[in-house]
Amino acid sequence: MAVAAGTRIGFIGAGQMAEAIAKGLNSAGVVRCDQMIAADVNLGRCKVFQSLGIAICGSNTEVAEASDVLILAVKPQIVEKVATELKPSLSKNHLLISIAAGVTLVNLQRWAGEARVVRVMPNLPCLVGATAAALSLGSSATQADSDLVIKLFDALGKIHVVDEKLLNAVTGLSGSGPGYVFLAIEALADGGVAAGLPRPIALSLAAQTVLGSAKMVLETNKHPGQLKDEVASPGGTTIAGIHELEKMGFRAALMNAVLAATERGEKFS
Ligand code: NAD
Repeated sequence: MAVAAGTRIGFIGAGQMAEAIAKGLNSAGVVRCDQMIAADVNLGRCKVFQSLGIAICGSNTEVAEASDVLILAVKPQIVEKVATELKPSLSKNHLLISIAAGVTLVNLQRWAGEARVVRVMPNLPCLVGATAAALSLGSSATQADSDLVIKLFDALGKIHVVDEKLLNAVTGLSGSGPGYVFLAIEALADGGVAAGLPRPIALSLAAQTVLGSAKMVLETNKHPGQLKDEVASPGGTTIAGIHELEKMGFRAALMNAVLAATERGEKFS
């Protein structure tokens, strides 16, 4: 269901994630592009947003003055500077949603003054309505704010409410996770090419295999270990492949990737 027609969503920073969220919300029919505005210091990014039908403001302050809900989508390193500059334009009527990795609610609240603040950690598949996200509410945010954020991000995929101390782990798993899976898809396709498949067919088979496997985990509610057992017949091809992955420390590599990304997120805090 669409958010109220009068609700104005403003993007502070019109980069990759802001674009994925804006396009996702528009195509889900939850927020139309003409309900969104944005500002970015990069003219090229402003042009991308304009081409979507999203009005561009000359400054972040103008976005704040014309919005009810602000999505803070700049890199974590500059959140303090950007939020502090915005502070005089923010009131308790603003809901500020920060998607910046590692930037704490306490700091956001300090820098953004009176605005109600929420942290969301989404991931890039917002673009295709398949994000995996989590949110934590700031102390001044209300139940209505939580409902609105859930409505926005459920339209882009799936969002969970978590304690803020878990958000760095969310960043390490699902925030950064598309990068790991893109790497895995590319490697699977390379394997297919090494085994003689034409590249486009190998890539399609690899991506569809990841998609189908994920759907089975989500839709059958079976434990992934059980599904793995079900596809690995005695002396068969799948168990031969799994044996190679185990020899190379496949599980440990993925666990270490999540832990390393979590630790990096903690450094921004
Ligand atoms: P990005 O570099 O694509 O976008 C950031 C944008 O901010 C750029 O377009 C830049 O020009 C703009 N910008 C810089 N200074 C500005 C200023 N003073 N005022 C307005 N705009 C300014 O980065 P991104 O990947 O979209 O990441 C944005 C945020 O999203 C980060 O904080 C990141 O932690 C978070 N995030 C990213 C991902 C991801 O997969 N990329 C996933 C989850 C969360």
